[in-house]
Amino acid sequence: MQLNKVSVDDINVKGKRVLVRVDFNVPLKDGVITNDNRITAALPTIKKLIADGGKVILCSHLGKPKNGPEEKFSLAPVAVRLAELLGQDVVFANDDEVVGENAKKAVAEMKDGDVVLLQNTRFRKEETKNLEPFSTELASLAEVFVMDAFGSAHRAHCSTAGVTDHIKDTAVGYLMQKEINFLGNAVENPVRPFVAILGGAKVADKLNVISNLLEKCDTLIIGGGMAYTFLKAQGKEVGKSLVDDTKLDYCKDMIAKAAELGKQLLLPVDTMIAAEFPNPIDGPIDVECVSVDAIPADMEGLDIGTETQALFAEAVKNAKTVVWNGPMGVFENPTLAAGTIAVAKALAETDATTIIGGGDSAAAVIQLGFADKMSHISTGGGASLEYLEGKTLPGIAVIADK
Ligand code: ATP
Repeated sequence: MQLNKVSVDDINVKGKRVLVRVDFNVPLKDGVITNDNRITAALPTIKKLIADGGKVILCSHLGKPKNGPEEKFSLAPVAVRLAELLGQDVVFANDDEVVGENAKKAVAEMKDGDVVLLQNTRFRKEETKNLEPFSTELASLAEVFVMDAFGSAHRAHCSTAGVTDHIKDTAVGYLMQKEINFLGNAVENPVRPFVAILGGAKVADKLNVISNLLEKCDTLIIGGGMAYTFLKAQGKEVGKSLVDDTKLDYCKDMIAKAAELGKQLLLPVDTMIAAEFPNPIDGPIDVECVSVDAIPADMEGLDIGTETQALFAEAVKNAKTVVWNGPMGVFENPTLAAGTIAVAKALAETDATTIIGGGDSAAAVIQLGFADKMSHISTGGGASLEYLEGKTLPGIAVIADK
């Protein structure tokens, strides 16, 4: 499935004011940006609009301010970093009400190719509820709206959806296009064999993903904390491992569904166990590798075992498309990162199209040094998961079709 939306390549923005929703929700520590990947990811669209002579008005949320404006969630540091990366001035419109006097003045003074960054959209309480008058105010600044915040596209907020009630000239940016083409193709039109790998903490977080991917993929691999609920559903003793007893029937249904559809469902055959969850999470820990049929009642499974590493690696070897979401174990701990590393390595070694679905798995792949070996690392954890569930994302739906 190719994206059938109007893109920045299809519009003429010369001399026009263009409001661009980007995802500048970067990690900050004491006012310093610790990772600017999200800013870098937005550059192609911003540069294109500048080159085309648009007046580029950027907006984004940052963090989760609860009660309106808070200095620690200001986008001011992002404006500075963006100006460095672009090599041109970025005017930061510092208004607590986002579309205030500073924003209006800055926009009125813009020349073609200028860039203005608005203050954190979540400083307005209407934003996350998609309420007026904020959508109207945002829309009043521009004649064209470009959506390029994939990481926020699963939310219908003023700046991702409501604004399009008032601006009819809409398009997606390059980042959106790239994300949707990778994830969309993988799910809707995969080159087969298509292997999906799911991990992470809880089954409950990924119910719809498991069900949808089972229908689309050839092999579904389940590791991480969520595997133990499946193992318990098969009647195994899982000791103190993470289990969701309310989802045992669901896991049984999925095991039956895989059999009915003739899909391969791979679960761990062995596991790394310890007496306790590591505390601190990256502290020293004694582990032992046992079969999933031999987990003692007083022990906890915290990573896939060595035989499982080989089994999972073998399953992706001849794949042509691999989608991976969620680590295989408590990868924050060096002793318990081996399973996640083994899967990352297996993905790095296949010639399959490899897609990492954001969140913790993206962090793990980057942290473990495999980033440049993957075809695509999604910038949106929640958004990519909803995409893998087969949902239509509100921030995509509101953009005009070609
Ligand atoms: P996101 O939701 O941000 O996209 P994710 O889907 O990649 O992230 P999560 O569901 O958040 O993953 O789960 C990641 C967490 O799961 C990690 O912090 C990891 O330590 C934990 N985890 C993995 N395996 C286990 C296990 N066996 N027992 C307990 N926790 C585990």
